[in-house]
Amino acid sequence: MNPFEKRATCGVQGLRPYQPGKPIEELQREYGVADIIKLASNENPLGISAHVKAAMQRELAGVARYPDGNGFALKQALAAKHGVDMRQITLGNGSSDPLEFVVRVFVSPGDEVLFSEHAFAMYPIVTQAASARAVVIPAKDWGHDLDAMRAAITDRTRVIFIANPNNPTGTWLRDDELQAFVADVPERVTVVVDEAYFEYASDPALGADGYPDASRWLDRFPNLVVTRTFSKAYGLAGLRVGYSLSHPDVANLLNRIRPPFNVNSLALAAACAGLEDEDHVRRGVAMNAGQMARVTAAAGEMGLSHIPSVGNFVCIDVGEDAAAVYDALLHEGVIVRPVANYGMPRHLRVTLGLPEENARFLAALRKVLA
Ligand SMILES: *Cc1c(COP(=O)(O)O)cnc(C)c1O
Repeated sequence: MNPFEKRATCGVQGLRPYQPGKPIEELQREYGVADIIKLASNENPLGISAHVKAAMQRELAGVARYPDGNGFALKQALAAKHGVDMRQITLGNGSSDPLEFVVRVFVSPGDEVLFSEHAFAMYPIVTQAASARAVVIPAKDWGHDLDAMRAAITDRTRVIFIANPNNPTGTWLRDDELQAFVADVPERVTVVVDEAYFEYASDPALGADGYPDASRWLDRFPNLVVTRTFSKAYGLAGLRVGYSLSHPDVANLLNRIRPPFNVNSLALAAACAGLEDEDHVRRGVAMNAGQMARVTAAAGEMGLSHIPSVGNFVCIDVGEDAAAVYDALLHEGVIVRPVANYGMPRHLRVTLGLPEENARFLAALRKVLA
């Protein structure tokens, strides 16, 4: 441990930073490959609509000024969308912000934070950063084992994270089972339901019968926090904007530690415009359902199994040499996501891209496995 690290909190000493998908520019530099496609970070391949672009262009004239620190216009639009009070909303620089705020507000060193094996990588990171103890519950069929999670709640449990659907597995929980679980959690424990892929999972074409909108339960469960993001179906990952919905008293606590200008003015304008253009979101969601069917069928024809997913990504079992397959795909100019760090050494997670991108991925995969 170097002298600087010795001065860090024990949480930070044990921390390993989040590993993002490989940037296109990095692959260009390192491998000298041109014409690269990136299917590694679950972004919307359609990008932004003309309506959102125009809103951002209008906003450019005002960037010398600080943004609205309260995000009034965006909160007003979100309150209308969800049928909640504006005081129930906490805006974030991505939904990663409210996920972290919950831990900083409710978790002290030594407390316990509960989440599933193969869960989103931000949960262990924010838990470790708070010098808290991560209690990781073994997965069942790649998804959440809610009975085991119930049984693992102790006096020290402060927060439970559940992504529905989960990233990277794409597995999901039905309304009845998740609602019963939330009802069983003692009120002193905060349950976070992370709905980053809500727009995809709630599309009937993906087949998630009974997939819930947990924001509808907020009136009944004051310890429930639901997070949503503009990074995925809304196509604004680069702008960083997301939010949580909760009891107003919880939102008040989260807002106390929220940096005052954590959502910039371009992001605020783009998010507001995005909410006015749900058609664009629907187009992306419809395309995703079609591409999911196509990519999983093609993987099956190659003799590969996958984990059924209701997100805009799917984990394909490419065998023991997944790391080698990942690397060979890089040489073909295709970036996907290795998930060994999620305890899934045989799988690669592929974001569904445009039809032509998925065709290139499938052709590259066929070549690499031959
Ligand atoms: C992508 C993702 C998020 C959202 O991240 P942002 O900070 O909103 O970009 C949250 N949770 C899960 C499970 C995700 O996959």
